[in-house]
Amino acid sequence: MKESLRLGRIAGVAVGINWSVLVIFTLITVGLAAGRFPILQPDLEPVAYAVAGLAAGIAFFLSLLAHELSHAIVARRNGVGVDGITLWLFGGVARLTGEADDPGADFRIAAVGPAVSVALGVVFLSLAGAASAAGLAPLVVEVVVWLGIINIVLAVFNLVPAAPLDGGRILRAALWRRSGDRVAAAVTAARAGRSFGWLLIIGGFAIFVLGAGLGGLWIVFLGWFLINAARMEEEQALMGGALSGVRVADVMTSGPTTAPDDVTVEQFIEHYVFRNRHSTFPLVDRMGRPTGLVTLRRVKEVPAERRPSMRIGDLACPMDEVAIAQPLEPLEDLLPRMAGCPDGRSLVMDGPQLVGIVSPTDVMRHLEMAELRRGGLEQP
Ligand SMILES: [Zn+2]
Repeated sequence: MKESLRLGRIAGVAVGINWSVLVIFTLITVGLAAGRFPILQPDLEPVAYAVAGLAAGIAFFLSLLAHELSHAIVARRNGVGVDGITLWLFGGVARLTGEADDPGADFRIAAVGPAVSVALGVVFLSLAGAASAAGLAPLVVEVVVWLGIINIVLAVFNLVPAAPLDGGRILRAALWRRSGDRVAAAVTAARAGRSFGWLLIIGGFAIFVLGAGLGGLWIVFLGWFLINAARMEEEQALMGGALSGVRVADVMTSGPTTAPDDVTVEQFIEHYVFRNRHSTFPLVDRMGRPTGLVTLRRVKEVPAERRPSMRIGDLACPMDEVAIAQPLEPLEDLLPRMAGCPDGRSLVMDGPQLVGIVSPTDVMRHLEMAELRRGGLEQP
C-alpha cells in the first residue's frame, strides 16, 4: 500500500501513513469516546470521553508502530533490508526488501512483533492496576485497560498461523526448518492465509447480518485483503523458487540498439523502429551516455502531426526513473524495482557501460523454461 504522508525516521527506519489510517483511527476514537467509555464510566462530561478516546487512539497507533518497528529492526539485524513502515487501514506493515537467509532469522523477524505487543499489553494492564490502586480517575484507568487488552488481542490475532500474518511467517519458518524447502513452506503458509481470509469473510458477513454493523464489514474487508496478500506471497514464493540462483545477465537481452536522444520522433521511427525488431530503445547523448529509455508503446501515443517536431528524448523515461541492474545481481533482487516508468523494463550496466535490457517478457520466458524443466505447468 502506498504511503500518503512521510512522518519521519525512527531508529533509521522511514515511517509513513496511508490516508486510510484516518478511517480506522476515527472508528476507534469515536467507538471509544461514544461507546465503550460512556458505558463503563457513565455520567462524565462529553469532553472527558473525547479526550480519553483521542488519547487511547494515539497510544494505540504508537503501539502498532512499536510492533512494526520491532520487525524492521530485527530484520535489519538479520541482514534483511527495510524500505520503511506504513500505517494504514489494517494496522501497519513493515516493508522488507529481501528475505531471511535461514529459518532462524525468518522466525525471529516474525516473532518479535507479537512479542512486543504482548509485552505492551502486560505493561499497560500492570499500569492500569497501579493507576487504580493509586486512586487515579476511573476513566484514565479504562483507557489504560483498553490499551492493555487491545495489544494482547493484536498479538493473538497476529499469531494465527496464516501468512501474511506473523503467525503465518512463524509457520513458514518452522516448516522450512523441518523440510529445508523454503518455497514449499511459504506456499503452505500462504494457503493457510487464504483459508483464514475466507473464514474472516464468512464470519464478518455473519456478524454484519446479525446486526453488529460496521465491525463485521471491516472484518470482511480484512479477510479479502488477507486472501489477496496471501495469493501474492504464494506467487512470489513460487517465482523466487524458480529464479533462485538466476542472475540478471542470464535473462537479459544483451547489446541493445541505442538511439541518439536528440532526433525527432519521426526520424526515430524511420531510422530505428522500422529497422529493428526491438520494442525498447535506450537513448544516449552525444558522449554515448544513457539518458533515458523509450518504448514503442510511448512512441505510438504521439499523434502523427506532432512526430516531426517532437524530440524523442522528451518522450523517454528519464534515467533516474529507470531501474538499473548489474549483470551479476540476482534477478530476484531486481524484480521489485522493475515495476516502473518504462513499462517494467530495466537497463543493465557494467560500470559506465550499457550491456543489456531486461523486460518482463525476458523474465516470463525464463520462468516458463524453469517450469518446463521442473516437469509441466501447474494448474491454477
Ligand atoms: Zn507483525
